[in-house]
Amino acid sequence: MIIVIIGGGPSGMIAASTAAKLYKENMEKAKEPSQIILIEKNEKLGKKLFITGKGRCNLTNACENEIFFKNVIRNSKFMYSSFTNFSNIDLMNLIEENGCKLKVERGNRVFPVGDKSYDIIDAFKNLLKKYKVDVKLNTEVKRISIYNDNDNNVKFEICTNNKLKIIADKVLISTGGLSYPSTGSTGDGYSFAKNFGLNVTKCIPALVPYNIKEISECKKLQGLTLKNVSLRIFDENKVLYEDFGEMLFTHFGLSGPLILSSSSYIDNEKNKIISIDLKPALTYDQIDKKLLRYFDEYHSKNIKSIIKLLLPNSLVDVFIERLDFNNVLDLSVSDIDKNMRKKIVNLIKDFRFTIVDRRDFTEAIITRGGVDIKEINPKTMESKKIKNLYFSGEVLDVDGLTGGFNIQIACSTGFTAGKYLYGI
Ligand code: FAD
Repeated sequence: MIIVIIGGGPSGMIAASTAAKLYKENMEKAKEPSQIILIEKNEKLGKKLFITGKGRCNLTNACENEIFFKNVIRNSKFMYSSFTNFSNIDLMNLIEENGCKLKVERGNRVFPVGDKSYDIIDAFKNLLKKYKVDVKLNTEVKRISIYNDNDNNVKFEICTNNKLKIIADKVLISTGGLSYPSTGSTGDGYSFAKNFGLNVTKCIPALVPYNIKEISECKKLQGLTLKNVSLRIFDENKVLYEDFGEMLFTHFGLSGPLILSSSSYIDNEKNKIISIDLKPALTYDQIDKKLLRYFDEYHSKNIKSIIKLLLPNSLVDVFIERLDFNNVLDLSVSDIDKNMRKKIVNLIKDFRFTIVDRRDFTEAIITRGGVDIKEINPKTMESKKIKNLYFSGEVLDVDGLTGGFNIQIACSTGFTAGKYLYGI
């Protein structure tokens, strides 16, 4: 039996080694010899894995099962079976058993002890070597076609860029999504799926920053990180996303954890309003009282010095410009009346930006959309329409938030596919 796995990311590597392990364990009982071939278009395995977690690879999240499913934003129910087959604990054990010690950091994020993503890649490579997977690098699958052989068995003919032609009994497509195409994930799996007549849902960049209308302000604030702020995104008074945490100003707009997560939840972001509460722990009234206290204490100072006591230094000039008070720099505390104070408090609690659009796939951590999960059996990862054709990893329409959830999705679905590719 020839099993071909296309794509040497985490999903394909775990699928190939799982199928090969099962073959090794059942070799004596097997009716015929098997060959497990892993095809990767790059010159090395795990090119995207290498850049994950800023080069440290946030492998998974050591959370409770319930939390894992909450962090899978689209189609989390599809993951029930494969996550039960191969959980975060299973992944951590497997990687440690294969030579990479792990540690758990803030938010249960799991990293290699040495903070080097290549230690994780080496653990995957050890697995492939241990179970003698036939790895073909620099080999890009160009076409997969299906036919019936003389005995009426369904076969797949796989053609590659380097004129290799492989006839396979079973095929797994684990070619990833569209994000960071320079790593090799260029959406080939979607074309293969469509050629087989499978539905592929709309793909958009997710976990991605936004371009912002107030770009000149963002440029002035570039590099500023706001911690412990609360953020709301809304449209005609309907709140679409709300959370608390950290965000970052860039030369084009807004980024950072809060912004990236929001892009996984909201659709049609154009013209949506982002409102930042710069002091979420204080009510309007408490901020007003604080201002009055400062005015009292520093009555000879100007308004800029007072704002500096409340906000990060680099935000003060932009904030003051937005107040739009006449001759603001000459205003002393004694010139500030009740209405002006109200304006300051309102701006602290509701500092707004307008979204132009999201950045593209070259900057997205993940692809939202993909092979429609209605096409796939969640227990095996096999296509419901085409027997012996499997899909796993980011190519599927399943995506999670940052924190290690996406590599876990790739590995749980990859492990499950590997198990059933070998027919267990
Ligand atoms: P991929 O890792 O994309 O692998 C697919 C492979 O298939 C590629 O190597 C590609 O070259 C190959 N391929 C494609 N087409 C063909 C073809 N026609 N023939 C042969 N080979 C082909 N997730 C986390 O959980 N934690 C993190 O810390 C994290 N950090 C990230 C940081 C960045 C900058 C990015 C872009 C993503 C990050 N992710 C993270 C997301 C995570 O990397 C992906 O979800 C995960 O790699 C998906 O695994 P995969 O195996 O499905 O696909």
